[in-house]
Amino acid sequence: MRCFNHKDKEAVAECRFCGKNVCDQCAVQLGPGRGVACSTQCERVARAALRKHEIRQRLAAVAFIVVSLALTVVLALSMQRRGGPWLLFLFPFAVGAAMMTWFVFYSCWNFYMWTTRGAPFHPGDAVVVTEGPHKGIQGEVARLSARSSTTVVVALTVEGEPVVHHFGWEEIRRIKNPPPAPRA
Ligand SMILES: [Zn+2]
Ligand SMILES: [Zn+2]
Repeated sequence: MRCFNHKDKEAVAECRFCGKNVCDQCAVQLGPGRGVACSTQCERVARAALRKHEIRQRLAAVAFIVVSLALTVVLALSMQRRGGPWLLFLFPFAVGAAMMTWFVFYSCWNFYMWTTRGAPFHPGDAVVVTEGPHKGIQGEVARLSARSSTTVVVALTVEGEPVVHHFGWEEIRRIKNPPPAPRA
């Protein structure tokens, strides 16, 4: 694979947003584990999308901790009122509360993705991109991502060029076939 700017240079990475192959000279690093961009234009879009994603993750983490702690306090208080050894159970309560909260959050997210986007996605599904620079472009799910169970690889045609791209469930929507029931 050659760099799209330098036909004589070997590409080292793929732009996170437009999918173009770039050499080490052209690649704009987005940070550890975040991949690269091919241009300052793509870098701007990539950073904005990453920021949005990280804010959502942080909000979810804060909500998770608050709900887990609240549940732990409720459990401990109810046991204290009944005269039980509530201090002894504080740790198991916290673990149980965290597991319950995680399960509820995960189920709600899955259900939300199913009703609003037709997730889960499988190879061959026709989808439309709903976020980012490819917004409005239709494509087909080529395969599931190895990185995450809620990310898929979609084949698109951008400016007449076929490209494949990673998308999170929250970035695409099914455009035909009735969605199957969600897996809990
Ligand atoms: Zn790019
Ligand atoms: Zn280059």
